[in-house]
Amino acid sequence: KQPLVQVKHLCKYFKVGRHADLKAVDDVSFDIYKGETVGLVGESGCGKSTTGRCMIRLYEPTKGEVIYDGKDITKLSKAEQKEFCRKVQMIFQNPYASLNSRMTVKEIVGEGLKQHGVPKNEIDKRVQALLETVGLNKDHMSRFPHEFSGGQRQRIGIARALSVDPEFIICDEPISALDVSIQAQVINMLKDLQEERGLTYLFVAHDLSVVKYISDRVVVMYLGMVVEQAETEELYSNPQHPYTKALLSAIPEADPDKAKANRRIPIKGEIPSPINPKQCCRFAERCEYATDRCFNEVPELREVCPGHKVACHLMDEK
Ligand code: SF4
Ligand code: MG
Repeated sequence: KQPLVQVKHLCKYFKVGRHADLKAVDDVSFDIYKGETVGLVGESGCGKSTTGRCMIRLYEPTKGEVIYDGKDITKLSKAEQKEFCRKVQMIFQNPYASLNSRMTVKEIVGEGLKQHGVPKNEIDKRVQALLETVGLNKDHMSRFPHEFSGGQRQRIGIARALSVDPEFIICDEPISALDVSIQAQVINMLKDLQEERGLTYLFVAHDLSVVKYISDRVVVMYLGMVVEQAETEELYSNPQHPYTKALLSAIPEADPDKAKANRRIPIKGEIPSPINPKQCCRFAERCEYATDRCFNEVPELREVCPGHKVACHLMDEK
């Protein structure tokens, strides 16, 4: 079966000086199948949002490609490009900044409908139905974004994304700016919508417990590269990369017996700069298992058991 989305050796470098490249994304590859949710996780600055932005053409890749439904998204015809803009939507981290403050909810949610040729007299009805889908109602149509709470604003963002009947939605930290009390509501709504509409998600987040709850598979990034990927069950029960192990050990364990057994693995030092990174394992300076080889050779991402890939020299000894 062909994946719906294929990210292939994707690189996004930003020039920060005459001889300096900030390698935000450096040779990242993964696939997403129709109807699944892939969680893309890592600390802030690891390149996960940049990867998401390349996948919807908010950024052009420096190298590599993104294939959607069998086609390179940078090589689409005009008509295909228009369809791509409809099929692929994004929900942003900051629901306030991503909504135009001078537009009413009706205009925000109806904008895409208008662009995609929905007749004027139908737009009101469609917007109303969309608002009801996300737990708002028609009384909200003439209001402006500032009149809503953070959670409601994110619902407006979701209604806007849904308006054009997309196939694939990139959710970039959709709940991390929201109060903890409403995070679960929004996540559950996204899950229900996925089931009802057969949506495919890329779920970008730094919070591993949220990702565990919503994802079928997880891709872990560190400093612009993928260090591990696996099915969710497998990744959380059998992590292999030292970085993934450390991240998982930091999730609070509710069960006190298990909490005692779990050693919290500290990650020493800070994330190094992604500017002109050395040809080595990018986690080497912070890894308690690092050897000379780790400081001199980039570990390849390879399959250690079906569907489970790890980029670490330790895997060679297994
Ligand atoms: Fe640690 Fe070496 Fe593996 Fe990198 S390659 S994670 S430094 S053991
Ligand atoms: Mg981000």
